[in-house]
Amino acid sequence: MTTFEQFERHINPGLAGLLRFTGLDKVESHAEGVYVWDTEGKRYLDFLGLYGTLSLGHRHPKVVEAVKAQLDRMPMSVRVLVCEPATRLAARLAEITPGELSMVYFGNSGTEGVEAALKFARFYTGKPGFITTQGGYHGKTLGALSVTPREHYQLPARPLVPGVTVVPFGDAKAIEAAIGPDTAAVIVEPIQGEGGIRVPPEGYLREVRRITREKGVLMIADEVQTGMGRTGKLWAVNWEEVEPDILVSAKALGGGVMPISATICRPEILSIYKTEPLIHSTTFGGNPLAAAAALAAIEVTLGEDIPTRAAQMGAYLLGQLAELQKAYPEFIQEVRGRGLLVGLEFSDADIGAVVVAELATRGVLTAFGLNNPKVVRLEPPLIVEKNHIDQCIEALDGALKATQLAFEGVL
Ligand SMILES: *Cc1c(COP(=O)(O)O)cnc(C)c1O
Repeated sequence: MTTFEQFERHINPGLAGLLRFTGLDKVESHAEGVYVWDTEGKRYLDFLGLYGTLSLGHRHPKVVEAVKAQLDRMPMSVRVLVCEPATRLAARLAEITPGELSMVYFGNSGTEGVEAALKFARFYTGKPGFITTQGGYHGKTLGALSVTPREHYQLPARPLVPGVTVVPFGDAKAIEAAIGPDTAAVIVEPIQGEGGIRVPPEGYLREVRRITREKGVLMIADEVQTGMGRTGKLWAVNWEEVEPDILVSAKALGGGVMPISATICRPEILSIYKTEPLIHSTTFGGNPLAAAAALAAIEVTLGEDIPTRAAQMGAYLLGQLAELQKAYPEFIQEVRGRGLLVGLEFSDADIGAVVVAELATRGVLTAFGLNNPKVVRLEPPLIVEKNHIDQCIEALDGALKATQLAFEGVL
């Protein structure tokens, strides 16, 4: 049996079908920088970047080196002694996140980071309720899924965590109206990723901060996808100089080499640890290998001013895409984003799917939003160069021409 057939049988038959449809029924072999190779030797330009995880590209040498050094010393923490890399990472995160954010809980994935944020909000406020936004994506474990309001994922998993109110994204007044005596926290992405790269109106985050502070409700900024430079600033909340009560980081935090999440809190929110040190804990979260990767990722991101690169390359990409939109107005409804968090909204989800498949044929990896299949997102590594963007645009032009042929007479 081939690896692909084994995947289909033992891991996920439906996903295998989807991969086959998009021409990606291939097996990955190795990767470096902005490129990935399959086992047949075909090279792909990675413009998906593991949904914003690969900000430093594949196998950034400084991150790999840090992980290798830690691997030779101590890959796992015994947990009954203090873990040095994780402690140093927590102190570093306190320095580089806004204001008083300074106590950190480490997990292994974005959804774990969100899960912790929700529990901490309940511990601290003693209240059960959460407010989340339409199109928001916060992960798929039961708690995080409860604040990810997409019926497609939620209905088969019911009953969910109770006490969740859903409001439109980008509307601060709706949050104000939804806050009640039982509200513990508002959870929001500064820019929605899976919801289709939706950028809220200017001033939205600042308004949400003002309202939550006035009403004594916590603000959780889910920066799992927007963090670590993706939008052109280290954190997307920096655009409006907002200091949330809890900031969740994950995807790019591990430098594209290790999985790690950090739930970074104002210190009083974790005061429960003074009396209940084991109230929320994990075996693997913030393990030495992952912490070493994150420390190296932070040094590269700041040392090479990666956020500024993201802003510059993002502006170039958005400009090139705007030109393409003029050439294919019947397909591309909107081009939007900030930094290298970019979305292309197609007139129809089927068209988006054909474009993704045609791009794959041309050696460019992309995908659509989990909560909005009409939108194809482009999230290349932030170390991407102009010529890579030009290659992507050329492939897109070819993909759109092929899509035009495929849909001729249908539209
Ligand atoms: C991806 C994502 C998550 C979930 O992270 P996982 O590591 O996939 O569990 C949560 N929030 C946002 C904003 C995300 O983009």
